[in-house]
Amino acid sequence: MRIVSWNMNHCLRSIPARKLAWEYLRDELKADLAIVQEASPPKGLMSVYHPINEKHPRYRWGSAVVALSPDLVLRERPRVPLADCQMKPVAANELPDSHPGACAVADVLGAHGQTLFTAISLYGQWEVMGNGQMYSCARLHRMISDLTGVLATSRRKPVVVAGDLNLTTQVAYEKQTQAETDGAAAAFARLRAWGLTDCISHTRTSRPRLPNCSCSDGDNCSHVQTFRLGNRTSSRPTQLDYAFISNSMTPKLKECRVVHDEAAWQLSDHCPIVLELT
Ligand SMILES: [Zn+2]
Repeated sequence: MRIVSWNMNHCLRSIPARKLAWEYLRDELKADLAIVQEASPPKGLMSVYHPINEKHPRYRWGSAVVALSPDLVLRERPRVPLADCQMKPVAANELPDSHPGACAVADVLGAHGQTLFTAISLYGQWEVMGNGQMYSCARLHRMISDLTGVLATSRRKPVVVAGDLNLTTQVAYEKQTQAETDGAAAAFARLRAWGLTDCISHTRTSRPRLPNCSCSDGDNCSHVQTFRLGNRTSSRPTQLDYAFISNSMTPKLKECRVVHDEAAWQLSDHCPIVLELT
């Protein structure tokens, strides 16, 4: 099965360009399952999707899990507003939702109705403070907490978590604070603590090392470029996108490819991550 995670930059794309991006996913990348952010899946595709804000012209998009293969069926995991979960626990298949539209969760079923894994499209939506400062860690850490019901059983019931987390342990911009870098490392540590493997890190020997990476990981650096600020080729090579899978799935991971191709950059300011699973 081929899974593609991609931030599709819906808001800043023309209607024809959005259509081309979905064709690229289907015809060029040949995705069976798309885990997308800043996206709005076309009608007619089986998807689990809610826009962040349908009424707001800048937020008529969100995270989605989309079945492109006719052999896959999606079963949406119901979400309950976080405020409604304080006194009453959610049902077994439900999950709290602190930021509707930024995280989509679907059980992925095979042709015979068997559950293959749970797919999570996760988007680190920025949180703006009263003084105008923006943080991506704040909402992402809340959303990881929302997923506890899925992550806590991920050793028995496999999980794929992928998306534009808007986080990196690189120095992504000049005034980045150590707190932001540490907050990113903490988010990755939380995912690993639930028994998840970072696919890009796991396959780092399969690709050339990112030249002059700004991280402090030394020889352990596994960063790749998945984002171009303003889609400029001269922008600092930054990784904001990730794909994690349950440790039990890693023997099935044949390939993890970052599609740093001009065709992809023509369609979004992020490039896709492709997971090839047997
Ligand atoms: Zn690095």
